[in-house]
Amino acid sequence: VVAGITPFNFPAMVPMWMFPVALACGNCFVLKPSERDPSAALVMAEWLKEAGLPDGVFSVVQGDKEAVDALLHHPDVSAVSFVGSTPIAKYIYETAARTGKRAQCLGGAKNHMVVMPDADMDQAVDALMGAAYGSAGERCMAISVAVPIGEETADRLMEKLVPKVRALKVGPGTDPEAEMGPLVTAQHRDKVKGYIDRGVQEGAELVVDGRTLSLQGYENGYFVGGTLFDRVTPEMTIYKEEIFGPVLAVARAPDYETAARMINEHEFGNGTAIFTRDGDAAREFAHQIQVGMVGINVPIPVPMAFHSFGGWKASLFGDHHMHGPEGVRFYTRLKTITTRWPTGIRA
Ligand code: NAD
Repeated sequence: VVAGITPFNFPAMVPMWMFPVALACGNCFVLKPSERDPSAALVMAEWLKEAGLPDGVFSVVQGDKEAVDALLHHPDVSAVSFVGSTPIAKYIYETAARTGKRAQCLGGAKNHMVVMPDADMDQAVDALMGAAYGSAGERCMAISVAVPIGEETADRLMEKLVPKVRALKVGPGTDPEAEMGPLVTAQHRDKVKGYIDRGVQEGAELVVDGRTLSLQGYENGYFVGGTLFDRVTPEMTIYKEEIFGPVLAVARAPDYETAARMINEHEFGNGTAIFTRDGDAAREFAHQIQVGMVGINVPIPVPMAFHSFGGWKASLFGDHHMHGPEGVRFYTRLKTITTRWPTGIRA
């Protein structure tokens, strides 16, 4: 029996990183989805039953910490897959290890996109708009820091980026024209706004402010408008911590080496990208950078399903990335059989 504990963003996709591989490898799977959007798990359970899966092979347990702790301490659960924030990922990894369970725990992120002076600026800006503000920034592969190389590149980037962020159309998910929806809860909206306040207090230049957005007819919705900071530095809280909202920080770097050092010294190492026309720069970046998933002119480098998904540093605790070949390794055990059939042995 293996368990999966999943976050609120992507309530179908993240469990699907886990249970198809776990079931195909011969395990029974218990899913504990986020208490903030628990119903997608039940729909998936119904579909699996309809498809003929025997009872008990895929189960859903609802709840929060109490349900998680029950799974972590249950003697029949032999492995735990987790996706969520870094403090909880670390807690689950440590608790699972203490109770003798195999664990893979994916945590938070702060993904940087380097924009080299030779990059196609229209492509880079379009990529940034989708990567920073798609899903209202509530995804672990969102780009939350843009690092233009040199003042001239930074000015060109800002010139094209600012009008697009200002024009971002925010609205309810039911509006087909809306480019960005609300945040998950009022508490999370307040947390994101708190980070924007903090950025201003710590001296970052707030170029587009999403705090004051109010939508007619949806005044009580949990909306934050697209927000853009310039001249963010590595000491600032909005650079160090994951905001998980529609807030993009531009951190100008004087040269490529400084940008690479910033990324390598950051606590998180989930995803990163470089935009350039120079193959040498791209190759050096791919080899040198201390991050699990790297994109070359690809802003959100989520690997195709036959590869595995996972970050480095505080973005993953454990030895295996998720799904693909790493998923098969995680959900199976190695057994080594040594045989000998000397002559003279009779059946
Ligand atoms: P979260 O850590 O609050 O919750 C994740 C899961 O842990 C939920 O099922 C929740 O019920 C459970 N949980 C919460 N508090 C707990 C506690 N004290 N003890 C035990 N279990 C607890 O995360 P979230 O807010 O639902 O999701 C957002 C986070 O997930 C972000 O940090 C994001 O970067 C991360 N995320 C990471 C990836 C990745 O692949 N690395 C993918 C998606 C989301």
